[in-house]
Amino acid sequence: MAGIDTAPFRQALEEERARIAHALENLHRENPGSLEDESQEMPLDNHPAEMATVTVDREIDSSLEEHEEHVLAEIDAALARIDAGSYGICVTCAAEIGEERLQARPSTAQCIDCRRRDERG
Ligand SMILES: [Zn+2]
Repeated sequence: MAGIDTAPFRQALEEERARIAHALENLHRENPGSLEDESQEMPLDNHPAEMATVTVDREIDSSLEEHEEHVLAEIDAALARIDAGSYGICVTCAAEIGEERLQARPSTAQCIDCRRRDERG
């Protein structure tokens, strides 16, 4: 073990997880049903401009939802690493991530060097 006290990180991750789960619930409430259901509700004489607005709104919602689900998956993975005793270790190069970076972003799975390399592609 790297000697990190994971308890405050676990707490921060669980709080963030609850917040995102709640946000996703709200997204689903605002956008209930499938695309099919919605097209049935749409009047036949719907103006093309209004149709476009509806489509754009849905795209924004779904990309927000995708983002939240991605963050949720990161948090779950971080909680799993706490359970496995590998929290704070870079998943790419096995270096210590460093407590300062973990405090800034508790769900991070990589050290700053690996993260930067990945971002450059
Ligand atoms: Zn690394």
